[in-house]
Amino acid sequence: MSRELELTEVAPLPGGESLTAEGLERLIGPFRRGAVPEPAEEMGFYTDTSVCIGCKACEVACKQWNQLPADGFTFSGNSYDNTGALSAESWRHVKFVEQFSVWEAGGGDGGAMPGRWLMMSDVCKHCVEAPCQHACPTGAIIHNEFNNVYIQPDICNGCAYCIAACPFGVITRSTLDNHAHKCTLCYDRQKDGLVPACAKACPTASIQFGPVEELRERARTRVEELRRRGVADAWLYGHEPTAGYSRLNAFYLLLDRASVYGLPEAPRNPWLSMRGDYLRAVLSVLPPLAVLITALLRGR
Ligand code: SF4
Ligand code: SF4
Ligand code: SF4
Repeated sequence: MSRELELTEVAPLPGGESLTAEGLERLIGPFRRGAVPEPAEEMGFYTDTSVCIGCKACEVACKQWNQLPADGFTFSGNSYDNTGALSAESWRHVKFVEQFSVWEAGGGDGGAMPGRWLMMSDVCKHCVEAPCQHACPTGAIIHNEFNNVYIQPDICNGCAYCIAACPFGVITRSTLDNHAHKCTLCYDRQKDGLVPACAKACPTASIQFGPVEELRERARTRVEELRRRGVADAWLYGHEPTAGYSRLNAFYLLLDRASVYGLPEAPRNPWLSMRGDYLRAVLSVLPPLAVLITALLRGR
């Protein structure tokens, strides 16, 4: 029996028609404050865009598992992309980049090249140092025991600071409940030992889930293999920290520059630019404070 089916088997309430102690416990248990989970192995995503076929099974599986509403059935006219962007309702977004004119113009042997589509399933990057988490004033955004970035909607006050802080444009506020939402890396499924819904549904293993260290090793081997086969432009985005940004626990194998996929070439943690502002704010309070204290002392 698959793990999914096993988990659907719920034991019947004991004690016939009357509520026993176990039955009562099952009713009130969810309202008790839970124990803090033990730290677990760091888990994440490695998305190999070289094998993505743009089927969108990942988008659908995510919506289905997380019960996310539809986006409005609008035909965008932008290639096969009718989702448009990541949002509180779309936690996976398959991007389609058409490179026909570029390839035809540069076609080898004097003949026109057939062109190509670049496809990439975008998601929250689960940044190791997450600006969204730094910006959140209520503590609603946490790193959970798998070192994934998780929004607790019941603590979110809808201030939208996290939206401005994320350099990847991942978060928006839901029009249904006004709270911020994004990919949870299927925390609920991970807790039950299941693979996230999108990775489970991906038919080409473009989305791979597992311990981050293992994924990074696998991704490096894949880049070497692709380069050996003549795909000189294959490279990894976010698998290692840069001067302005931390490592991403959801990183990518890309076949072109990051900006071609709509990703920042050199993401920068806004916190690095804001530290000086905080310091200046604190320093600016000191002179009036000194004047006030002096005035009070003289008044005595
Ligand atoms: S990608 Fe954006 S939303 Fe996701 S963890 Fe990083 S900063 Fe937060
Ligand atoms: S990990 Fe889960 S929540 Fe995140 S994109 Fe995949 S299916 Fe959606
Ligand atoms: S399910 Fe896999 S192959 Fe299909 S669009 Fe998503 S990442 Fe690409």
